[in-house]
Amino acid sequence: MRARFPDFRLGNVLATSFTGTLSERHGNAVERIPTPHRLVDWLAVNGLAVDSSTTAQLALARELRESIHAAATAAAIQDPLPATAVQVINDRSSQGRAAAVLTSDGERRWLLSSASCVEDALSVIAADAISILAGERDGKLALCASPTCQAAFFDTSQSRTRKWCDMNTCGNRQKKARFHANQSTSAK
Ligand SMILES: [Zn+2]
Repeated sequence: MRARFPDFRLGNVLATSFTGTLSERHGNAVERIPTPHRLVDWLAVNGLAVDSSTTAQLALARELRESIHAAATAAAIQDPLPATAVQVINDRSSQGRAAAVLTSDGERRWLLSSASCVEDALSVIAADAISILAGERDGKLALCASPTCQAAFFDTSQSRTRKWCDMNTCGNRQKKARFHANQSTSAK
């Protein structure tokens, strides 16, 4: 029987969906890629299918994830980017050989050099992070307003006033908390 693992949160920005595989960093952290197999699952869901992952490749993935998180957090609060995080992102980006290909339907797919090359998949994620950190894309890095989360997310809303990394989790929880607070004050 397969053990139950925490679900993935899906977003439309690859790099910050990836950093979201560890959530509640400032509360009871939830690790959503606890095993190499779950990394393989996450990559498949995000269009980067690989056959397998080793424990060492999972460690590389998590190192990249935390580096993107550190750099994105610094960018969101306009701090200088941490040099070690930048180094890891650059190493992962330059040590992969993924190619973008166009399908006949006009969609972009990623072609990895081999089906076991987690490093190629990580290079795609690192490059995505670079495009956000370099300010090339339309949006703004921000931090989730939930005190236990504080995840970096990419705000593409027109007003750039999004508060939560994820409306279905952090946003909803906050709304419920406010609702309960209102209930107890009006009951007095
Ligand atoms: Zn959040």
